[in-house]
Amino acid sequence: MTSSTKILLSGVKPTGRPHIGNYFGAMKQFVDLLNSGQYRCYFMVADYHALNTVKNSQEMRQHIVDLALDYLAIGLDPEKAVLFKQSDVSAHTELAWVFDTLVTVPYLQRAHAYKAELDRINALNPKKEALLNKKVGMYEVEINVGTFNYPVLMAADILLYDTDVVPVGQDQKQHIEYARDIAQKFNGTFGELFKLPKALILEDVATVPGTDGRKMSKSYNNTIPLFADDETIKKAVMSMVTDSKGADEPKDPEHDTIFAIHKLFTSPAELAKLADQYKQGTISYKESKELLIQKISMFIAPLRERRAELQKDVAAVQKILERGAEQACAVANAKMKEVRKMIGVDSQ
Ligand code: AMP
Repeated sequence: MTSSTKILLSGVKPTGRPHIGNYFGAMKQFVDLLNSGQYRCYFMVADYHALNTVKNSQEMRQHIVDLALDYLAIGLDPEKAVLFKQSDVSAHTELAWVFDTLVTVPYLQRAHAYKAELDRINALNPKKEALLNKKVGMYEVEINVGTFNYPVLMAADILLYDTDVVPVGQDQKQHIEYARDIAQKFNGTFGELFKLPKALILEDVATVPGTDGRKMSKSYNNTIPLFADDETIKKAVMSMVTDSKGADEPKDPEHDTIFAIHKLFTSPAELAKLADQYKQGTISYKESKELLIQKISMFIAPLRERRAELQKDVAAVQKILERGAEQACAVANAKMKEVRKMIGVDSQ
């Protein structure tokens, strides 16, 4: 690794089981880019981002260990990359506050993720009173400040490490643009300090569709979990929504969610053959689903086994996160020291 080695950082929120959208949209790239040897890599368990929705300490602890196990099981080698937990590096929240004083409310109101959350909440509104009576958390029926501020904390996550590239799915593109804007705002106000990061988004897998055809997402309940058992895979695939074309009618592969998922697991030659079968009406949606179940099961089985093996030694996982935190703190605290100096809050 040389001084010109580029820095890569990304993260996933520990909010529940990751799905194949997370994997193909982001996590697979983590492994490929780490193994390319071209980057100094930081992979974060974004627990303070998860806190926007996870409000139970036991659940949070479990999700954190689970995600660390997932990282290891997909092949992120802790000897090569820094695997750490966001909350272990307090510079993230400290820098987010500094950025909060530079960023305006109307700017954050333009964020897609904020607008999507507003839409979700507005859709609930007729039921809001009933939900409140059921004592659901306020954050479920009103937007919380953490969700509003999400892009600011994410900018801090990225900028603290002089990150060059951030591999993410399409839904995070705007957040990386926000990080660039915020870096420029700071640099313009206090002087050059932060590097402008770039998003790394793979076009083909930028948005993996879920079983209902919308973006695959834990919040839409339309996922195929990454470490699922065979029964869960079967149930998820069989529930996939299609049009009503009969077995021997020609079908359009480019407008079918089953075909879109086949793309993730199939070689180009095999995919071309399948596309022909669709167009000629020689395959039914049911047969296409059965084929897909086989492919996904074959792909997931070794990952699931590796994860089960790792799960036998959770203490080792905690040690990896502790070591990662030390390495991340060394870099982040040094950067924060520079920030404090530039804004004038350092001791003379
Ligand atoms: P999250 O679970 O929101 O922390 O997302 C972790 C990563 O997975 C982010 O880089 C997202 O952009 C990516 N991601 C989430 N859902 C999808 C999807 N359906 N297709 C592609 N990438 C996704």
